[in-house]
Amino acid sequence: MLKITPHLGTLVLLVSIGGLWYPRLGYVVALVFLSILVISPFRGRWFCGNLCLWGSFNDFWVGKISRHIQIPRSFSSMAVRVPIFIAMMGFNISRIIATEGSVDKLGMVFVTMSILTASFSILFGAAYSPRTWCTLCPMGTLQRLLGRGRYPLKLDSEICIDCGICQKICPMQLDLKAAGGDPDCIKCGRCVDACPRRALRF
Ligand code: SF4
Ligand code: SF4
Ligand code: SF4
Repeated sequence: MLKITPHLGTLVLLVSIGGLWYPRLGYVVALVFLSILVISPFRGRWFCGNLCLWGSFNDFWVGKISRHIQIPRSFSSMAVRVPIFIAMMGFNISRIIATEGSVDKLGMVFVTMSILTASFSILFGAAYSPRTWCTLCPMGTLQRLLGRGRYPLKLDSEICIDCGICQKICPMQLDLKAAGGDPDCIKCGRCVDACPRRALRF
């Protein structure tokens, strides 16, 4: 399984800071959107756990300053996430329309998205756990809606010894006993690798 690398997180700094001088770097964000739209109907939130620049930024950069405590349960509720999704999409779409087709202005809209995502990642990640923003992120919510139960994590309860290792290692703090797999699983495979009984698989 592909493993997310720290190098992807470095690109967040390149796009968010370098983009202020060279807005076309923002088109990396457009590429991310496109990838999400193509991948999520088949693999759910796989992109979040394996290829997302901000996901890597959260794991390897924000992780260093995080308190590593429980993410509030309310953050995973759709009553919280859908309004965030609508607000951020509305904000971004109105800004895209205002660019009137200017390549540089559109690039700057994407750079702003990168800066906002990195800022929210740092704020929420420092306050709770590194992947806290990934619970609220509109692109994560979109992937959940498009992917639903695709590529689920399966638990063989016959051989599971209930040691709790997988639960502790999950960056999304999911309930691994959830029937049929949690649609917010980012398919990072950390629980699969950590299980001493090989009771987990996709
Ligand atoms: S939830 Fe958002 S920021 Fe987090 S990994 Fe997925 S797309 Fe990236
Ligand atoms: S359940 Fe496993 S694969 Fe899914 S996010 Fe948690 S650790 Fe990663
Ligand atoms: S790590 Fe494996 S054996 Fe331990 S609780 Fe998780 S699935 Fe069960």
